[in-house]
Order: sequence, then structure tokens, then C-alpha cells
Amino acid sequence: MNKIRIVHRSSRLFQPLNPVQKNIQAKNVDLTSLSQKLMLDLGIIKQSSPGSFHYLPLAVRSLNKLTKIVDEEMANIDAQKVIFPTLTYSKLWEKTGRISDVDSELFKVKDRHDGSYILSPTHEEAAADLLATITPMSYKQFPLKLYQISSKFRDEMKPRFGLMRARQFIMKDLYSFDLNMELARATYDQVCEAYERIFKLIGINFVKVLGTTGNMGGSISNEFHFISKIGEDKILSCGSCGYRANVELAGDELQCPVCGNNDKDLIKNGIEVGHTFLLGEKYSKPLNANFMGINSNAVALQMGSYGLGISRILAAAIEVGSLEHEIRWPDVLAPYSIIIISPKDGSKEDSAVKDLPLEMYRTLDGVFCDEVLLDDRNALTIGKRVLDAKRTGYPYIVVVGSKATETPARLEVIDVKNDEQHYLSKDQLVDFL
Ligand code: ATP
Ligand code: MG
Ligand code: MG
Ligand code: MG
Repeated sequence: MNKIRIVHRSSRLFQPLNPVQKNIQAKNVDLTSLSQKLMLDLGIIKQSSPGSFHYLPLAVRSLNKLTKIVDEEMANIDAQKVIFPTLTYSKLWEKTGRISDVDSELFKVKDRHDGSYILSPTHEEAAADLLATITPMSYKQFPLKLYQISSKFRDEMKPRFGLMRARQFIMKDLYSFDLNMELARATYDQVCEAYERIFKLIGINFVKVLGTTGNMGGSISNEFHFISKIGEDKILSCGSCGYRANVELAGDELQCPVCGNNDKDLIKNGIEVGHTFLLGEKYSKPLNANFMGINSNAVALQMGSYGLGISRILAAAIEVGSLEHEIRWPDVLAPYSIIIISPKDGSKEDSAVKDLPLEMYRTLDGVFCDEVLLDDRNALTIGKRVLDAKRTGYPYIVVVGSKATETPARLEVIDVKNDEQHYLSKDQLVDFL
């Protein structure tokens, strides 16, 4: 069946752009990072209240790409996608003792019958309770890995850096259940490897370090960081012996606790983009997440918990890769890969090659399915639209300009990341892209 493919047009795109360098920010928005400023200026996000954001269409396109990468890697390790409820009974958090540890960060709500809930900041309790409701669980059902990608709620003392420290943010969280510690450890390593593959695909340099287990508990914990001067964590990364740890764990002695190396650049600032925990029985025991052991006795499952800051990764990648006034996305996360700029209304190109932009759109969309945007805001000059396209950070800009009227027609292609310009025929263009 032939499906009519819609044309993605800039004239229809909901992208409330601020003019260059005008700093027209909504009141009550403290600008604290480059990514926050760029994402607000370029109409990617808007702030609703401190730490709470509207994700506009370009943000959602990019998030969908990240979600797809994560889903594929999760499928590879046999993890199954679920949706846990946002509301978690407070009493589950009382049973694990966590309610008092993180009390001030919890958003609490009551129902009309005075039942107490929290807006979940993470779902260890909810996941363990789910398994506890299914009894008996046979040993044959394990290992089990369940994950979701959903909004999390934390009453952060100081929401800032835009999406990076929000009160409502998107996390991917995975919970693993195994029959014993040895198997749980193998699962832990398997998930960490999947996370490393995800970060490699995103293409931003990252470091995996040892972390503290904090109020989450458990025996092993690793964090994944993007190195950035605005990172709020201090990361010790030893070039001599390879020891890598959050300074919370390593001490800040300004020297490596393993080999004594005290190089100047031993400690860097990191943005925490992922965190993994080997939890053991901390949640399964009090919440009765068990399986049926030999002699039909109930045995506590060994759990792991693995968070990826989906919305934080998006902002942090922009933070690390962008220029002062222009977003640079990791290629795999750019909302569109190619933008085509059509001639200005009334120009000589407009009358000579009127149908060419749409023809090029159809051709490129056929090859790069759903990755092409047509900037048909033809009342604006080509120069102004090229500027907008560079600011928004589309990797390739195709301009149907003056050389398009020559025979044979040539199109200008701007390779934005490498700051290169090429004039190519239609056929060369497809090969080039
Ligand atoms: P941080 O140290 O930055 O406060 P955390 O250690 O409290 O983060 P975790 O509980 O480990 O966070 O949550 C898993 C992941 O969720 C983090 O690694 C991070 O990527 C993301 N995350 C945590 N808090 C926020 C937030 N307020 N806004 C956006 N993402 C967040
Ligand atoms: Mg925190
Ligand atoms: Mg942390
Ligand atoms: Mg953490």
C-alpha cells in the first residue's frame, strides 16, 4: 500500500525562536548553563515553573531518538519495557526505611480518603512490590529485567541548568532480579556494558567511575559522567593506574588513593548521566520480593537498579558539544538530519526552480526517511534561514540558491559540524549525504 508521506515544513513547526542575542527570556528564568540558554532561545524547551519544562517538538524528536537507542540496547540484553505507576504508596517507602532518608526531596500527595502517596523519584520499592504481589514466583522466571522510561519527580533544593537539574525529569530506570548474588553480579556487568554501548552510540566522551551507594544502598555502584566544567560532581580519573571514582568515594586528597599519582588534571567536574547499583536484598527483603526455593521456602531475590538520566543526557550532550550561539547535537540525536532551504519569494530562483525544493525533499526523504525538514518560510531571506538552521544545529543544510538555476543545477550543501560548503548536482548530493 502506498502511504502518502507528510512533508515536514518549518512554516508549520512549533519552534518559538528568540532572535539572535536578544536574550528575551521569560521572567523568573535564571540562566545557569549554555544548554539551558540555547534550548530556550531555539524553541526546544520552555520553562513552566522552576525545574519543570514543556518539551517542544524538536526536543521530543530528539528524545524519541534517544529512546530508540535505549530500547534497542535493552532488547539486546533481554530487558522488558513496562510502565510503573507514578504514584507509589508512601507505606512502601516506610517499609524500606527510605522515606526518612530522602524526605525533603519527595513530592507527597494524598487521595480523598487520606491515603498517602509520593510522586515517584525512582521505583525500587514499586518494582519490588510488583514482584511481591506475584506468588509464588518460580526460579524458572529469572533472571528478570524490567525497565521503563518515564517522568520522575524530585523536589530539588536548587533546580538549575535547565533540564539537567529539574524537578520533573525523564529517567530510564531498570530493575533486575536474580536468584543469587553471583547471577546478580553477572546481570550487573551485562547492564553496565549495555550502558557503555549506549554512551558510545551517543558519541560524547564519558567516564565510568566507582560511586557511593548513598541512600540507595547495595554493595557496588558505578556512575557514568560527561566531563564538563559545570558538572556538579568531582571525578577522580587517574591516568597512571586507571582508578576512576567519584571524589565522594575516593576522598579529595588531590592524589590517587591507589597509586599516589598527584597530576594536576587528576580531578575534573562531571555531569552524572547514569548510575547503577547492585542492591542485593535491601528492597526485596522488607517488601517480600521472593522466589520459591527448594523445599518451597521463600527466598529473597537479589536486585539491581540502573538509572539513565534521559532528559539530562540530552541537555548535557548539548552543553558539551555546542558553540556559544549554535546548538551542536550528537549526530544520532539531531531532531532532523537535513534541512532544505527554498528560494525567497519573488527571487529569480523562485520563478526558475519553483518545484525543485519539494522535489529534493521527496528524494532525500525517500532515502533518509523522516529525517528531512523543508524550510519553506519563503518570506525570509536565505541568509536568515541559514543562520536559524545553523543555530538550531541541523547537521546538513541544503540551499536551493542561485546556482540551482544553472545547467546542470547545483545545490549548496553546508556540512555544519565541519563548517564546509559544497556545490553539488542533485545526484552528487544524495551520494554525499
Ligand atoms: P545528582 O547527584 O545529580 O543529584 P542522583 O545521584 O541524585 O543525581 P540518581 O538517583 O542516581 O540521581 O538517578 C539516576 C539518574 O537520573 C542520574 O544519574 C541522573 O542522570 C538523573 N537525574 C537525577 N536527578 C535529576 C534531576 N534532578 N534532573 C534531571 N536528571 C536527574
Ligand atoms: Mg540527586
Ligand atoms: Mg549523584
Ligand atoms: Mg546517582
